[in-house]
Amino acid sequence: MKNINIIGAGASGLFAAYEIKKTAGDKFNIRVFEQGESIYDRRCPIVEKMTKKCINCRPCAIMSGFGGAGAFSDGKYNITTQYGGWITDYMDEKSATELMEYVDEVIIKLSEEEIEGIYEPKSIYKKEALKYDLHLLQGRVRHLGTEKNLSILKSMYEYLKEEGVEFLFKTKIERVSVHQSDYKHKFSVQSMDETFESDILIIAVGRSGAEWFSKQCKDGLGLRLINNQVDVGVRVEVPSEILEDITGEIYEAKIKYRTKAYSDVVRTFCMNPNGYVVTENTDGIITVNGHSFSNKSLGSRNTNFALLVSNKFTEPFDDPYAYGKRIASFSNLLGGGVLVQRFGDLVKGRRTNAHRLSQSFTKPTLDATPGDLSLVLPKRQLDDIIEMIYQLDKMFPGLANENTLLYGVEVKFYSSRLELTDELETSIEGMYAIGDGSGTTRSLSQASASGVHVARIIGKKG
Ligand SMILES: Cc1cc2nc3c(=O)[nH]c(=O)nc-3n(C[C@H](O)[C@H](O)[C@H](O)COP(=O)(O)OP(=O)(O)OC[C@H]3O[C@@H](n4cnc5c(N)ncnc54)[C@H](O)[C@@H]3O)c2cc1C
Repeated sequence: MKNINIIGAGASGLFAAYEIKKTAGDKFNIRVFEQGESIYDRRCPIVEKMTKKCINCRPCAIMSGFGGAGAFSDGKYNITTQYGGWITDYMDEKSATELMEYVDEVIIKLSEEEIEGIYEPKSIYKKEALKYDLHLLQGRVRHLGTEKNLSILKSMYEYLKEEGVEFLFKTKIERVSVHQSDYKHKFSVQSMDETFESDILIIAVGRSGAEWFSKQCKDGLGLRLINNQVDVGVRVEVPSEILEDITGEIYEAKIKYRTKAYSDVVRTFCMNPNGYVVTENTDGIITVNGHSFSNKSLGSRNTNFALLVSNKFTEPFDDPYAYGKRIASFSNLLGGGVLVQRFGDLVKGRRTNAHRLSQSFTKPTLDATPGDLSLVLPKRQLDDIIEMIYQLDKMFPGLANENTLLYGVEVKFYSSRLELTDELETSIEGMYAIGDGSGTTRSLSQASASGVHVARIIGKKG
């Protein structure tokens, strides 16, 4: 039996373990290292309503633990190659779609409850958006909702445990190294107090482990990485009626727009009908995100989504991660966490204070500090966001209302991209990199698909 070590128990790592067990289970021992807790022990003090503000747990229970960053997410599985990653750089569109459809089937099989149907793309909305120079990206969307997503993860855990997969929780891997043995590579992974050897190593560390992994690649493993992008913006919250026509039909509107002022691309992202705005902790910096439940009775009256400006840098700058974190840290400095501002106050150049917020017709779903985002976001990104809000207002009247709430800062980091083969193998034979941490994906569906892809290759090679 060969030993496989997987670092990270997020969507990509779990689907890799699942598929290896399914297709070639008798040939491999699988061990999964996860710095966070098991699915039964993941507790975020904010989710548990023990505190209102992020208290900087290390590791963050939202980002880490069995299920990875997706565990408390909205559970939107987007079956599309139009967004959510770059998996088609490694395979054709048909194969990528088949992998995502396979993941979808497994999820349905693992669910103990009935899962609602898929939201299909509708060309009528694409046509309507084009009238305003807004470009709608569409995909098939399976929305699980946070509560079903968690119960599916519990079933996944029980299944993998029964199949003999060994999980080591609260085990952060500090160092990865490689050495030759019998003309083959052997891999060592080191936690605080133990070293584990394997024949095959799968790195599935997600965005929370991306910085650590980049360092391992540069310092120890000598692997080349490329990264020069970060998306910075805000989370917008409006009464759900403003977007209900489109969210009721296609669930979320992923729209891209090129601003007239700077020719920058601004995009909507992660729309949560009747959802909640939440905080997220990236290496001690508090940023904003959103989610929603599939059970309608748990919903809020608002819909939230991100508005993000893509920033691509040219030489000599090569640290977009630090740039994104630095901007987000301003909101933490001024507001002790996330800031919230009414759109009307932002365009009038004044702070939203507690009094103004209390007068707002739109009631916030996150207890953020009322403030002034113009003191946080650079002028260029702020102008881009304001222009996009007015543009969206043409398609969704009411979106640019005074009481539209903007939370800042939302940052989407792009993990550094490794040079990988079509098999997602690094230039070190036997070492694979999958999911968001490898820079090849940015979604639950593509991350899971990358895990299945690698599992089948490993299974075939034996
Ligand atoms: C709040 C939120 C909501 C989201 N909603 C959606 C959504 O609705 N739809 C969607 O498609 N995507 C969503 N996403 C993104 C989605 O969660 C990710 O794309 C997906 O989880 C990526 O899977 P992954 O396996 O690559 O990484 P992750 O899920 O991030 O898993 C990586 C795991 O590796 C562990 N790890 C990292 N470094 C180490 C180390 N050194 N040692 C041991 N363990 C380590 C981490 O603790 C983590 O558990 C959301 C993300 C967040 C944060």
